[in-house]
Parts: sequence; structure tokens; C-alpha cells
Amino acid sequence: MDEFDCAVIGAGVVGLAVARALALKGREVVVLEAEGAIGTGTSSRNSEVIHAGIYYPEGSLKARLCVEGKQLLYDYAAERGLPHRRCGKLIVATAPTQVAQLDAIAAKARANDVDDLVLLTREQARAMEPQLECLAALHSPSTGIVDSHALMLSLQGDLEHAGGVLALKSAVVRAECAHGVVVLVAQDGTALRCNSVVNAAGLAAPALARRFDGLPASAVPSAHFAKGSYFTLAGRAPFSRLIYPVPEAAGLGVHLTLDLGGQAKFGPDVQWVDSPDDLVVDPKRGDGFYAEVRKYWPALPDGALIPGYAGIRPKVSGPGEAARDFLIEGPATHGVPGLVNLFGIESPGLTSSLAIGRHVAALLP
Ligand SMILES: Cc1cc2nc3c(=O)[nH]c(=O)nc-3n(C[C@H](O)[C@H](O)[C@H](O)COP(=O)(O)OP(=O)(O)OC[C@H]3O[C@@H](n4cnc5c(N)ncnc54)[C@H](O)[C@@H]3O)c2cc1C
Repeated sequence: MDEFDCAVIGAGVVGLAVARALALKGREVVVLEAEGAIGTGTSSRNSEVIHAGIYYPEGSLKARLCVEGKQLLYDYAAERGLPHRRCGKLIVATAPTQVAQLDAIAAKARANDVDDLVLLTREQARAMEPQLECLAALHSPSTGIVDSHALMLSLQGDLEHAGGVLALKSAVVRAECAHGVVVLVAQDGTALRCNSVVNAAGLAAPALARRFDGLPASAVPSAHFAKGSYFTLAGRAPFSRLIYPVPEAAGLGVHLTLDLGGQAKFGPDVQWVDSPDDLVVDPKRGDGFYAEVRKYWPALPDGALIPGYAGIRPKVSGPGEAARDFLIEGPATHGVPGLVNLFGIESPGLTSSLAIGRHVAALLP
């Protein structure tokens, strides 16, 4: 049987960041990825926003790892010359009841050590973005965008430079956890004996963990899938900053984000689906976007929204249930030596990736 000190299952941005952190600590690391390339899962189906860390409950992993990860990511992107831009974002109140919510959002942000938000009047917001309509806004100067594929390639480079190995087309199908080691079994029957295993399989992480013999069933949450569809704007972007409405129950509302080429897109919306593979954008969902976007950009022309792409949020709470934190569960939680499961790594997982890497490496001394 082959042996490796550490195996990370999944080569998305989080798996790669974890593998890099372990390799930089001097551990022998292999990343096992089911597909034929890195980053083909949720890591290539998101908004590529570097979130400031505004909305998450105080003290939560999402809050802590987002704020820490944001700084690590800006520093890393600058050091490596990765395409990114600290473009800032405006959170806009378009109804009188939402104006008071801006204060609550700013207070929540301060509790998370995000103390750079600035409350703007309608006139101040429109001076920054003349096409914007709103009653008031919050400006977040530390929100930005990053090229997630350049980031993942750089993480892979660091991993390999530190002696780590990436094995593509290497789906893990089950594991046996016993006697302080974890034996992973790949689809072709190959077995790999490891001291440490990190399950960073994204949408598939709970289903895979259910096939880990020796891991209590109670340590695996049920998986829920919340699809988010994007619609691309035909023509020039009317804004130079990201524009977000005041957030809604299950998502951040139909917001406008920009990519590094200046292309604007709207979304993602929230649609609960049964399958993690349900990635086709239904053009009809765009009909509902027009009214939402026109609340803050009345000049949106008819027919300007083109179906783009969709991503699926790996949720660990279902429709109508309270949102849950990232679940990063090591031996102290589930009792299996050497194993860390990552569940529910939805947004802000990209922003938090480098901080998650550090956090997981610390759980596996
Ligand atoms: C619509 C949407 C928008 C988002 N926007 C943002 C944003 O703007 N900013 C932000 O910070 N975050 C954002 N996120 C969150 C972010 O994209 C994710 O948190 C992050 O990409 C998760 O990375 P991951 O490595 O955990 O998962 P993934 O990228 O899904 O990677 C998991 C990998 O595991 C592999 N795998 C699965 N099963 C197996 C197996 N059995 N064996 C081997 N390999 C396996 C998969 O092939 C895949 O490559 C968004 C998410 C969504 C859905």
C-alpha cells in the first residue's frame, strides 16, 4: 500500500490553500482531485469578490477567517503579481426601511473589526456613481476582486515548490479510519495510507464523509444545495464599484459585480436545488432580475441581461433554516485522529482560503 504523510481531497481554492499551508510547514502532501484539472468546481463558479467581512455573526469562523483571509489575500496577490483590484463596493438602501438597516450593517461590521465603512448620503453616493439611484449607501473601500484562476495556479505552484504533489483524475470513494491512520481508497481501488487527511471536496464533502468508516455518522451534516445564477450585462458597465442591495434572507440580493476585464454581471440569485450538478442557467430567471436591478439602476435597458453561468453554494442548512457557520471539524470535534472535514464552505470561502489553510494546518500539528 502507498503511504503519504498528508492527503487533501479536492483541488479547489480551499483544498489548494490547505495543501500549500501544510507543505510550507514541511509536511509531505498529496492533493487528490477527481477531475482532470484544478478548480473546476465552485471555485470557478463564483463572483471572485474579496469580501470585507461585513455581514457575518461576530466571532464566527466566517467573520474571523474572512477578515484575516482578506488581508492575507491582498498581500499575497500583491507579492505574486496576481490580477486583483481593490475597487470598493456600495451597499445601497432603496427603500426608507432599509436606511436604518445600513446603520445595523455598519455596527455588525465594526464588531468584526471592519471599521472602514463610510455612510453616504444619496448625493455623495451619486457623486461616486452617477447612474446609481438610492436613498443612502455604505461605502466599503476594502472590498475588491481577484482572478481566482491565477490565485489557484499560484497556490499549486507554491505547493509543488514545497515538494507537494497534485494527482488529477484521482477520485476518492471511501476511507477507513482506524489505529490513528486514515486509509483512502480511490475509484480504481488504489489504497493510500495517511497520517492526516483533509476532506476539502466542496459540494461532495458530506457525501464522501459518510463513506469514512470509523467517523461517527453524527459528525456529518446533511448537505443542501443553493444554486445561484448570474446574468451578464450586454454593453459597458455603468459603475466602477460593486453595487449591493441591503441583504436578503438567504443571499446578498441581486448585486452587480465586475470582473477584472470590466465586464458587469448581476446575481447570484438563490434557488434551492436537489442536485449539486444542476448548473444550467434558466433564461426565465432573468425576468425577475430587471425589477430588482432597476431599484438601484433605473436605466437598465430592456433585454440587456444575458444568461451567464451558475454556481452552487455548499450549504449545511436548508431552506427556512438559520444560516450556519463554516464547519471545520478536526479530531477534537469528531474524535478521529488526523482527519479534518470541511463542510459548508460557501461564500466567503474564496476570500478566506489562505486563512482557512492556516487554520486547518494548525489543527494538524
Ligand atoms: C454562486 C457563488 C458565488 C460565490 N462568490 C464568492 C465570492 O465572491 N467571494 C468569496 O469569497 N466566495 C465566494 N463563493 C464561495 C467560494 O466560491 C467557495 O467557498 C470556494 O470556491 C470553495 O472552494 P472549495 O475548494 O472548498 O470547493 P470546490 O471549488 O468545489 O472544490 C472541491 C473540489 O473537490 C473535488 N472533489 C469532489 N469530490 C471528490 C472526491 N471524491 N475525490 C477527489 N476530489 C473530489 C471537486 O472536483 C472539486 O475540484 C461563492 C460561491 C458560490 C456558489
